Amino acid sequence: MRRRAFLMTTGALSVGRASVSVADSGKGVQSGSDPAYTIRSGTKQETEVFVKNDGDGPTALLVGGMHGDEKSGYRAATAITKWRVSGGTLVVLPRANQVAIRSNRREGTDGDLNRKFPTGEKPESELAREIWGVVSRHDPDVVLDLHRSIGIYGYHESSVGQVIWPTNVGRANEYARLTAEQLNDTVVPWSMPFHEFRRGGEITGSRPMLVHKVAGDLDRPGYIFETTAFLLDLGTRVRWTKRAAEELLSHHGIERRGNS
Ligand SMILES: [Zn+2]
Repeated sequence: MRRRAFLMTTGALSVGRASVSVADSGKGVQSGSDPAYTIRSGTKQETEVFVKNDGDGPTALLVGGMHGDEKSGYRAATAITKWRVSGGTLVVLPRANQVAIRSNRREGTDGDLNRKFPTGEKPESELAREIWGVVSRHDPDVVLDLHRSIGIYGYHESSVGQVIWPTNVGRANEYARLTAEQLNDTVVPWSMPFHEFRRGGEITGSRPMLVHKVAGDLDRPGYIFETTAFLLDLGTRVRWTKRAAEELLSHHGIERRGNS
């Protein structure tokens, strides 16, 4: 069940409205591609948060770079910081784990960042606590976490590639399925059946990952997006990741505006 309802303005109210800088909410909202604020400031983990806002509506948080060797996630998220949106607020943390990204490793100095978010407890590192602080500050209606797997789910052992994992909240399950279908129809070549996207099983608060905590503590829709490095070049993975984000955000009422 949703804990919080929001009033949707009609689509007509936001059509054609210019993106407006709003600095009065204390949430660091702005319309350009400059960061709104940083977390872990003054440390090696310092990283930027971007906030895009246009019109009343839902708030989405999109995270990349949780794992530093998963380039497609943080490159797609970095590109998405330049998007303009309508119908709500998009908060982007493109490079969650700067130390891991700089060393091109899954883990940073504190270990695997995406195992630091136990449900019902405080996150287990300073970085994880500040990331959870971003969640608390913006109170998102939906969270997307962008990842990359080595192989393909069901074919390669312990691989989760080409799967969209929804939380067990709201219509996330349906939206994950629709997004997988849309990607299969529009970007996955017919000659690559193993690369067809699938919806994963529903995420609960059972594991210490960010999206699991979103499900368990906040009862909000969220998704882990996993593309695969198997026979896919980086540019394709980035492109497919951006398409998935655009589609999922659209299902949650936030539309990408233009091609910028
Ligand atoms: Zn990952």
